[in-house]
Amino acid sequence: MLISILRSDNLNYNEDKIKYYLNNILSIPSPSGFTEKIMDYIKKELGILNVPYIVTNKGAVIATLKGENNDYQRTLTAHVDTLGAMVKKINPSGSLSLDPIGGYMMNSIEGENCTIETIDCNSIKGKSFTGTIQSIKPSVHISGDDARELKRIPENMEIILDEKISTKKEVEDLGLSVGDFICFDARTIFTEKGFVKSRHLDDKASVAILLYTIKYILESGIKLPYTTNIFISNYEEVGHGASASIPEKTKEFVSVDMGCPGLDQNSSEYSVCICAKDSSGPYDLELRKRLTQICKKEKIDYKIDVYPHYGSDASAALRAGWDIKAALIGAGIFASHGYERTHMDSILNTLNLIIKYCFQK
Ligand SMILES: [Zn+2]
Repeated sequence: MLISILRSDNLNYNEDKIKYYLNNILSIPSPSGFTEKIMDYIKKELGILNVPYIVTNKGAVIATLKGENNDYQRTLTAHVDTLGAMVKKINPSGSLSLDPIGGYMMNSIEGENCTIETIDCNSIKGKSFTGTIQSIKPSVHISGDDARELKRIPENMEIILDEKISTKKEVEDLGLSVGDFICFDARTIFTEKGFVKSRHLDDKASVAILLYTIKYILESGIKLPYTTNIFISNYEEVGHGASASIPEKTKEFVSVDMGCPGLDQNSSEYSVCICAKDSSGPYDLELRKRLTQICKKEKIDYKIDVYPHYGSDASAALRAGWDIKAALIGAGIFASHGYERTHMDSILNTLNLIIKYCFQK
């Protein structure tokens, strides 16, 4: 019953357009440190929406929607950078050793296809090569229980390139080197029943939501009560995404990032998840209450949760010394930092809360 009420309430949101943004964003690889191409896409979409934005020295993009009150500003952020890896060593056999970017389990990337992006100092774009991430004992027919019991740590993983090579020199001759970026295949699937399965829904689902938020607010023709900035950050997975360059007049800072449904958690793949506390401590109680009240009033399906092993761009901003009221909300992403899943209900509930918050006086 609740779902049907929510569905009808969300009917004025164009689900296809949200999926369009999400699919595009998921299809452009963007591990932290390699986000130029995805930022070009974000800038292109902001250009189409005709919204002013600035680019920070770190490469983040901040769009601004002017409101009635320009002295008390709100900033909503989502990060477009993802997990990934970097080539650490080219092995004598021609395989590549890797060093992770961001925090994840090695078994979550074992057997995954990937693209290695080489760095060309004279050009924006290097060359791309494909490969597969394997353990160094990938076959039970060869290694038996040793293959099963091998500890999945970076030192025991390697990339097998889709090239007819068998020496380090052949790999170097192709143009690959230490420091090249490794991007995991996202494997994005939208199912008929509304699920979205993909790597990097953290936090690309939120970036798609915020892009759509800008479009929706502009098309509504209604002026916001407060100037509202949309901060697309690009170093969250390595801890310092929104630690700088927050618009000076920001009083309320809402990090739109995933919720974590799963074992012993209150979060859900169908609701908007409001984080009360994570490893960085409690979020601002007054702002949390206000967001919760909006959910109650607007009949938005929500869950409040506590994440002991989580930090967000709002935590990064607080730690950097910003005097802001910080909150963390987002869609529930199952199996976070693995092959993730959420449902469009969760995305629409998060969108609905954000839109209602932006318009709240
Ligand atoms: Zn995230």
